[in-house]
Amino acid sequence: MHPTCLILFGAPGSGKGTQAKLLAGRCVKGPHISTGDILREHVQRGDDLGFGVAAIMASGQLVPDELVSRLVRERIGRPDCRNGFILDGYPRTVPQAKLLAGMLDGRGFDCVVIHLKVDYNKVIARLSGRRLCPQCGALYSVAPNAPTISEVCDYDGARLMIRDDDREEVVRERLETYAKQTLPLLTYFREEPGCRFVEVDGTAGGPHTVVKEICAQLEKIRRSEPG
Ligand code: AMP
Repeated sequence: MHPTCLILFGAPGSGKGTQAKLLAGRCVKGPHISTGDILREHVQRGDDLGFGVAAIMASGQLVPDELVSRLVRERIGRPDCRNGFILDGYPRTVPQAKLLAGMLDGRGFDCVVIHLKVDYNKVIARLSGRRLCPQCGALYSVAPNAPTISEVCDYDGARLMIRDDDREEVVRERLETYAKQTLPLLTYFREEPGCRFVEVDGTAGGPHTVVKEICAQLEKIRRSEPG
């Protein structure tokens, strides 16, 4: 069995981050790589890269393809990605998908794209009710992914906050950006012979139901592989 490059694809609020955290080390051997998290770390550190992307991120638009792809190339080249990895939030444009194909070329990964399908209205409800732990990065949403105690992180007790780009006007911009720049990728993935493409209902039950479905789909793909 080859190592898996799992691409979680879906609208903002479709649950990519939650699913990636549940999947990492479970049915994909390897780390969860979120380009949003990597970029936010640079912004928090206040380094040159973070300074350059902060305004773009705060407005809900996309940072340049070459920049984010350089970060991904560096990250997936590290030893912990040898046995596989999960991409959350990358690729987000067709040029990024082509750059990723170049990075993976000849490295022996099986590429699987999981499209987390969600209802637009549910996405809006999830994003506007979403809370972030400023200490550990855990994301909470409306039930069934609400924190046990309202506004408090289950893991470390920190007071939850609203992510800057989860504010209503930015959510609208993020969804527009998704429709314009990211949705065309669906056609690309469906037609791309190098990647297996699977659709999963991202709102069927809670996060644990969805992760079970993704693992079942991955098993099915692995069993159908020659060798
Ligand atoms: P996320 O946490 O994935 O929603 O990403 C937060 C923000 O980071 C996005 O709204 C973009 O501004 C930026 N970002 C994350 N991933 C990418 C990407 N693959 N391409 C361009 N911008 C990205």
